[in-house]
Amino acid sequence: MAIKKLVFYGEKSLREPSKEVHKVSQKIKTLVQDLLDTMYAENGVGLAAPQIGEQYRVFVIDVSSGNEPLNPMVFINPKIIKKSGAVVSHEGCLSFPEAYTDVKRYANVLVKALDIHGKPFVLEGKDGTLLARAIQHEYDHLDGVLFIDHSINRFDADKALKEHNLPPVEIEKLLNEPDLDEALAND
Ligand code: ZN
Repeated sequence: MAIKKLVFYGEKSLREPSKEVHKVSQKIKTLVQDLLDTMYAENGVGLAAPQIGEQYRVFVIDVSSGNEPLNPMVFINPKIIKKSGAVVSHEGCLSFPEAYTDVKRYANVLVKALDIHGKPFVLEGKDGTLLARAIQHEYDHLDGVLFIDHSINRFDADKALKEHNLPPVEIEKLLNEPDLDEALAND
């Protein structure tokens, strides 16, 4: 059990793509435990391996709240196989301490991944729930994509980053998302 040091926005490795896991070895199981320990210590909803300096396609999520029992979910080599609808999501990230901004997300996603035993599973995040949004947020980290890249308004995002002494939005990383724009306009 180990709480790891977080990688913060501005550090280059957050922009680097992560490697597939070839075998759910003891090393990967330790990585998963470190991710969970660090996420809970930081009161996060999700954490991806590159956020603790490990470039592997692994993330964890726990959307339980209040008095609910903990519900750790482990995703190894995840693939988003279906996505639809759109929502505006007010998001932050443990790699961006205290900074929040509105981003575009799909409302529904279907994700396929391996669990901690290396067993495949499929999970649906629906109706713009925290789970649906967290899956997309954490999945992005594995490709070096960050939540601010989905900003509704980059000036608002810049303001939030500046207020918390973080580097500005990387304009060249902003994503063009016509399907989400269209779905949001029709809402
Ligand atoms: Zn994040």
